[in-house]
Formats: sequence, structure tokens, C-alpha cells
Amino acid sequence: MPIDKKCPSCGGTLLFAPGTDGLSCQLCGYTEKIPELISEVRAQELDLSAAQSLGSHDWGMETQVCQCSQCGGLTINNKLQLSGLCPFCGSTSVVPVQTSSEILAPNGIIPFKVNETRATNYFKNWARDLFLAPEKLSQDAKLDKFKGLYVPYFTFDVDTVNEYSGKFTFKTDKKDSEGNIVYERRNKSGAFQYRVNDFPVVASNVMASDRILVSAMQYNTEEARVYTPDALAGFPAEHYSVGLAEAWNRAANDMNHYLKEIARIYEHAEFQVSTTIVTKSFTNVTYKYLLVPVWVNSFVYDNRRFMIVVNGQTGVVRGQWPKSFGRFMKGALGLFF
Ligand SMILES: [Zn+2]
Ligand SMILES: [Zn+2]
Repeated sequence: MPIDKKCPSCGGTLLFAPGTDGLSCQLCGYTEKIPELISEVRAQELDLSAAQSLGSHDWGMETQVCQCSQCGGLTINNKLQLSGLCPFCGSTSVVPVQTSSEILAPNGIIPFKVNETRATNYFKNWARDLFLAPEKLSQDAKLDKFKGLYVPYFTFDVDTVNEYSGKFTFKTDKKDSEGNIVYERRNKSGAFQYRVNDFPVVASNVMASDRILVSAMQYNTEEARVYTPDALAGFPAEHYSVGLAEAWNRAANDMNHYLKEIARIYEHAEFQVSTTIVTKSFTNVTYKYLLVPVWVNSFVYDNRRFMIVVNGQTGVVRGQWPKSFGRFMKGALGLFF
């Protein structure tokens, strides 16, 4: 597998071009498609019980782990393409570090569909929709650049057997005097089997530690393709801070809420209230270890770092903002635009 692809027509460096499923030359504009990404073959499910032996450490390139001395962010980079820029905070104090153990390599990737220009526009529209529309928003001038980053992401498939009981709200065919549908609440209990498909766990503590940021991290995993280092050309990957075993524990916990929703659907109810659900067994667990794309930006206000993320597949925008945003935005927009 090639480590650093050179342009066949001019010798320039080929970098992944978001939205094209291909590489493009920074010098002459030559482009080529990446076979794994245009293939119909999806990222494979791996058996969790055999993870020790199946887990690969081959990234298909020489990797270098780098740490930001400003924010502590850890990234995995192609050794030949170190950008020296921290994707989390934009700092240039990024230093190579030695890692003790081998780093588990992904088996699938969702490539960037959204490019930097579109990410920036999504952000501007989002800011405009949510808040004031200061005239400066429409000017491009000084927006701190969004930086592209692949984030580690596990998905799990599992057969579950569940027992539930609780209150469910049902539609009736009655109407009240004003013509509104009458609902009624009934106690229900039951059991069902269900195979959960691609239940996600964000393996990044930076993203997962924040409800706002993690809510941007929903991906259409059907689009995950077999991992190829070419899709990383020019983009770092975040070093996972949640390992496979811990990710599975989180998934099994977080699935509870999801399975309550399945119980509601099973009961044909409109809502479920104070339902308890116990999963009696989890069997046939398979997983995928994916890299998923995000555009990241951040700024410091009142000694705190605020992050903005744009989903690199769907364009969904989420951001942390100071409480005094309105005032802040008016005063500080000049910093970004
Ligand atoms: Zn070229
Ligand atoms: Zn940093």
C-alpha cells in the first residue's frame, strides 16, 4: 500500500478531496478516485468475541501520534503529512509523542462529503438562524479556519432479549368536545427479541464528554466503506480515548433508552412513561471500528475553550457558546469573520 501518494503528472502531493471520494493534486489539479470509496463493498462487521485476534494494527501508512501542548488533544497522523496544527484548538504547539502500545487500526471509514467551504457556510447559517444576524456574519474576512478531523467511532450489532413494564400512552378513536383526539394511559408489560443494528459509541472523550457536541455525531453508517489510508491524506485522526471493551460497555448501557423506544413501537403506543426495561441477554455481538468526519473550530472566551463542530457527512452543526452569547457575538464577531 502506498504511504504518500505523489501526483503522476507533476509529482505534487495528492490529498483527499472532500465530497469527491478521490484524491486531488495540490499543484496541478489532477484527480483520481479511491477504489475502496467508490466500491459497493461496505465496512465489515467483526466478531467482538474474537476481537483480540481480529483487531488490526495496520493503518496502511506510517503513523505518528502527536499531542497538542495547549489543549492536550491527541491525533494520529501520516508521518509524511504532519500539519503541525492542532485540529481542536488551532495551536501550533503540536509535538510528536511516543505511544507505548500499538494503536488499533480502523476497519471502516466514512469519508468527508462536506468540504471546508460548505462547512463554513453551514456554520454561518446556523449562527444566523439561532442568534442575531449581525451584518459581520455575512463577511468572510477573519473566520478561524475549520479543521477537518476523523473521529474514532465504534458501532455494535447485537441480539437482545428484553422484558419491560411501564405506562404507555395510546391514541383512542374518541374525541373530546373540542374535537381533539383523546389519549389514554395504560400499564403494559411484555417481552421481545430485537437485533440492534449499528448502535454507535463515539470513542472520543473530547466529543463524548459534551452533550452538545456528541449530538452532532450521528452518521449514516450504511455509507461506511472499507478503511483506506488514502481517505486520510491531509486529515489527522483523533486518537481514541475509549477502547473497544469500554465502548461495548457504554453501548450496552446506552442501549437501554433506545430499547424502551422499541418497546413503545412494539406496543403501538404514542409515548412511554416511566418504563423499565431489562435486557436479559446480549448475544452475537459484532462491531465496526470506523473513522467518521468532522470539521472543528474553537475559540477562547473568559478563559474557557468553546468548540464548534460540523458533521462532515451530514452538515449538522453544533456549538458550545458562552451564556452571554448575544453581547459576546456583537463584540467579538470581528475575531472570526
Ligand atoms: Zn499534479
Ligand atoms: Zn490543541
